[in-house]
Amino acid sequence: MLEITDLSSAYGHVIALSSVTLEVRRGEIVTLVGSNGAGKTTLLRCISGVQSVAAGTIRLEGADITRARASARVAAGIAQSPEGRMVFAELSVDDNLELGGYLRRKAERKATLEQVFTLFPALAERRDSLAGALSGGQQQMVAIGRALMTGPKLLLLDEPSMGLAPVVVEQIFDAIDLLCADGMTILLVEQNASAALALADRAYVIENGAIVLSGEGPALAADERVRAAYLGA
Ligand code: ATP
Repeated sequence: MLEITDLSSAYGHVIALSSVTLEVRRGEIVTLVGSNGAGKTTLLRCISGVQSVAAGTIRLEGADITRARASARVAAGIAQSPEGRMVFAELSVDDNLELGGYLRRKAERKATLEQVFTLFPALAERRDSLAGALSGGQQQMVAIGRALMTGPKLLLLDEPSMGLAPVVVEQIFDAIDLLCADGMTILLVEQNASAALALADRAYVIENGAIVLSGEGPALAADERVRAAYLGA
């Protein structure tokens, strides 16, 4: 589905990614684990087209999208739920979700809206509330729901558990699991390495902008280096 080859990106003189190669196959959950500043968000921003690429290629279903506009990537099937949620606080839950689906036909929007409310029943109860009045966990559900409303083939999730209580984190990870069981392809960025590795088919570890380890989720969770650096073992 997604093939990234030798990707590099920088902010002025700060090199954020150097020669990153990774792939996400159809129907997989792939997790990217790394500490603060490792380059995780930059990689997602390169994939969704809001961060420029210095070198390397990004392919979606075989097509080179390295230089495609962000809007073209949404139309091609890439959606991102950003770090920090970025919901429109002054708009209702319904309006936040509808905005995600503005490129699609009404019938498609309606069908996906029902799927989002099935996945997150708490949002169905609060569809007329202002998004800014919701709890952090519910705002995270809005951010994921808004991305789903674009009708994506590939869902990019940036730190969906950030700042949430353990019981809410569990709800969000259960929803991600359900989405994958339903056939969605997901690239998940997380600092909560233990929960993310438990969910992942495969995972990559990124340090200082470079991939240093990769493998199946459970195998990486058992790796001594991962346990010492990311799982507090
Ligand atoms: P976090 O979990 O803290 O968001 P991250 O793994 O997502 O970390 P990035 O945000 O991708 O890391 O940052 C990678 C590198 O790029 C870091 O050295 C960071 O300081 C730098 N960086 C990120 N955004 C900018 C920016 N707008 N201007 C300059 N440097 C930046």
